[in-house]
Amino acid sequence: MSLDIQKIRNDFPILDQQVHGKPLAYLDNAATTQKPRQVIDAVNDVYTKYNSNIHRGVHHLSNVCTQAFEDARVKVQKFINAEHSHEVIFTRGTTESVNLIAHSFGDVFLKEGDEVIVSQLEHHSNIVPWQMLEQRKGISLNVIPINDKGELMLEELDEMFTEKTKLVALAHISNALGTINPIKTIIDKCHQRDIPVMIDGAQAVQHVSVDVQALDCDFYVFSGHKLYGPTGIGILYGKEKWLDQMTPYQGGGEMIQTVSFEGTTFNELPFKFEAGTPDYSGAIGLAAAIDYVTHIGVDNIAAYEHELLVYGTDKLETIPQMNIYGTAAEKASVISFLVGNIHPYDMGMMLDKMGIAVRTGHHCAQPLMQRYNIPGTVRASFAVYNTREEIDRLVEGILKVSQLFG
Ligand code: PLP
Repeated sequence: MSLDIQKIRNDFPILDQQVHGKPLAYLDNAATTQKPRQVIDAVNDVYTKYNSNIHRGVHHLSNVCTQAFEDARVKVQKFINAEHSHEVIFTRGTTESVNLIAHSFGDVFLKEGDEVIVSQLEHHSNIVPWQMLEQRKGISLNVIPINDKGELMLEELDEMFTEKTKLVALAHISNALGTINPIKTIIDKCHQRDIPVMIDGAQAVQHVSVDVQALDCDFYVFSGHKLYGPTGIGILYGKEKWLDQMTPYQGGGEMIQTVSFEGTTFNELPFKFEAGTPDYSGAIGLAAAIDYVTHIGVDNIAAYEHELLVYGTDKLETIPQMNIYGTAAEKASVISFLVGNIHPYDMGMMLDKMGIAVRTGHHCAQPLMQRYNIPGTVRASFAVYNTREEIDRLVEGILKVSQLFG
């Protein structure tokens, strides 16, 4: 199905503006996506029509708001095809979800000497929480290396499993390279050894259909703001069998059943992990974002973004001294590059003057940059509202900067 991109662009008010006197070309979607009017309206509706703290309320507004919040949970459940809605926990985002798992899974299932496996292409938020556990509990962290194309070296993984391997935590899609990891194969490998798997889907849910039951992953985490939804809201999906046994992450309101100074009992799932007033407007906005992408069709979005990726890669490769980092056979719509020895920061600053927004730096993946022995890259990342014309402008812009730098 061919998408009407202009119609889609019209849903995103922010795109219709000039930056430094040039039309904005927003190519920084791996950092965060822009929000369609449908999401903005849904959040606006909360505050103009029915804002009220959720659960426990007896009055009308509280009931309406609670219902919308719980409907949002069911929307997420259906979106990722979780078996139960109570396996869907609202968090602040991917980072908080990984920290929660490291803390609460770590509490119960990891002890000194145990091993967690991550990969060389992880975002810091799937490295540092495990390193903190290394310090707190004496676990150790093992790292699956990547080849020059930015693909996981799976043959190495087979050698890394030991009796002490207790969890594998991996990105579905690399934010810095775009590599789509073969997570189903990895999950199956791990399950043959009874090792649970956590998937960081921060860069995936907006690009590919995710079915957590078909994948059979034990945990799957993502952020609302990269899926055209609001900031401050994210998801932790976990299989009931794990979540039930895990300890709460934070204490406070909502996560308890009874509290007394003699002792406290904890609430059932999902509330056990949702201490305090949750970001219900964010959850409701996320549900609107899910409606939005579902209406267009995640597979249609994926197909269109793949066209942009191929078009962009072909064009960028014609630029002299272009080095593209991340050339995996399976790739999402992210192009990371360096041109000659132009510093990524200079490239990014000069493109900005032309109205082109790209990200520069290490992309919160310093170990990956160390692997390539570079300080960082320039990253253009495409979403459903981007166009070939914007990619043409990017290419022209890069050529201008290259000429300036001789
Ligand atoms: N994991 C990956 C692969 C990411 O790309 C990001 C953000 O860029 C994160 C985790 C962290 O997401 P957040 O900052 O929304 O918690």
